[in-house]
Amino acid sequence: MRYTRGQAAFWILSYLVLAALPVFIAYAGSVPDARGFWIEFGVALGFIGLAMMGLQFILTGRFSRIAGTLGLDSMLQFHRQIGLVAFFMILAHPVILILADSQYLAFFDPRENLPRAFALVAVVGALVLLTVTTLWRTALGIPYEWWRVGHGVLALFIVFVGVVHILQVSYYVSELWKQAIWVLATGAAMAMLINTRVIRPWQMSSRPYRVTEVREEWGGSWTLRFEPDGHPGLRFEPGQFGWLVLGESPWSLNQHPFSFSSSAEQTDAIELTIKELGDFTNTIGQTEPGSTAFIEGPFGAFVPDESPTRGMVCIAGGVGITPIMSMLRTLADRSDERPIRLIYGNATRNDILFYEDLEALKSRLNLTIIYVLSRPDEDWDGIEGRLTPEVIGPYLPIGSGDSREYFVCGPEGMMDVVEPYLTERGVPLSDIYAERFQIV
Ligand SMILES: Cc1cc2nc3c(=O)[nH]c(=O)nc-3n(C[C@H](O)[C@H](O)[C@H](O)COP(=O)(O)OP(=O)(O)OC[C@H]3O[C@@H](n4cnc5c(N)ncnc54)[C@H](O)[C@@H]3O)c2cc1C
Repeated sequence: MRYTRGQAAFWILSYLVLAALPVFIAYAGSVPDARGFWIEFGVALGFIGLAMMGLQFILTGRFSRIAGTLGLDSMLQFHRQIGLVAFFMILAHPVILILADSQYLAFFDPRENLPRAFALVAVVGALVLLTVTTLWRTALGIPYEWWRVGHGVLALFIVFVGVVHILQVSYYVSELWKQAIWVLATGAAMAMLINTRVIRPWQMSSRPYRVTEVREEWGGSWTLRFEPDGHPGLRFEPGQFGWLVLGESPWSLNQHPFSFSSSAEQTDAIELTIKELGDFTNTIGQTEPGSTAFIEGPFGAFVPDESPTRGMVCIAGGVGITPIMSMLRTLADRSDERPIRLIYGNATRNDILFYEDLEALKSRLNLTIIYVLSRPDEDWDGIEGRLTPEVIGPYLPIGSGDSREYFVCGPEGMMDVVEPYLTERGVPLSDIYAERFQIV
């Protein structure tokens, strides 16, 4: 489940070609007269921005073939960043056209064409709303689940109005084949949304899981054990994650991503370890054994190399240990002998999730653990501080030809410091695997 540079280059190239496709189509076949650089540029931005908006449905579609290679987490991060680029491109489209020729203001004039003006004003509003609610969702107090529904509806509306606008203006798509491509592409985007939101839950409905154990862990966390009910269950690779729905229906909006914390070699059950953090997770400890659950997955490319040729360095903060715990448990079950160094940061001794299990794993693996506490008790004789470059620096086996894979998972602040520090210290980007728990 790991991607090579070649695969990454292939997907990036495919993305660029698909994003630019509307411009190639516009300039294929019979091409109308060009109208000056700025107008052509503004039109091209609109075409590309809209295509990028449509491609967002692929990025969020949880397609295992793509997500399995690139990692759903990386794709969602890309979706977020590229969404901003698409936002500016689409907004720049009318701005540049109007600045280049004020006659284009007529598109927004209700006296000229009321439905058209209404639709275009609404689409600009939708675009702004989509971006503002995404960037400042938490500050605006919008619950994640409602934001997700609204996000999809707004995106669909923008793509739909955008395509109708292109067909109506018809300057570059007057030929039937060009119109057919736009209609088919819109249909495909909608089909992807229906696949993710309707067909997948329907498929999941025949693959329920039963909660067989709810175990309290250190640091306000709970481990839930799920056993497949009437089906073989899913197989995952250590470090991957799944989307969990608790309850009788897989159609719930309350669907949350959690890393598998159990060994991938354990096939009869799956364990997820969940920290109490918000609306959904705060009540996770009250889950009744025997309840029904649905798990969609596996996803993610935060996975160690299967062949034990190189060692690993894992840097975890708090609940960020969960995917790493799965790696350690799996490697122990596989009697893997590669050297592993774990630098694990928490606030207090009682926050060290899986402490006893980690200590026990030392006898089954070539494992060194460096615990770091930011608020230790007086009797703590370990390392004190946060996972900053000064603290972790001396424990990184960098240099002397000891090339290792680096796995980093923890709070945003830690990730933002540790990832650039590793590259600064000369660790190649291709050897750094990062898992961010905060998607939006
Ligand atoms: C790839 C991945 C793996 C994760 N693995 C673990 C794990 O092993 N253990 C663990 O405790 N946590 C894990 N998380 C984080 C976990 O998904 C969130 O803590 C949880 O969804 C918070 O939900 P809430 O309603 O309790 O909190 P809220 O207070 O509502 O949300 C806190 C934050 O969590 C995120 N979030 C909330 N709801 C969702 C959702 N439905 N889908 C996606 N993100 C959401 C948002 O960024 C939000 O700002 C993981 C997250 C990701 C992306």
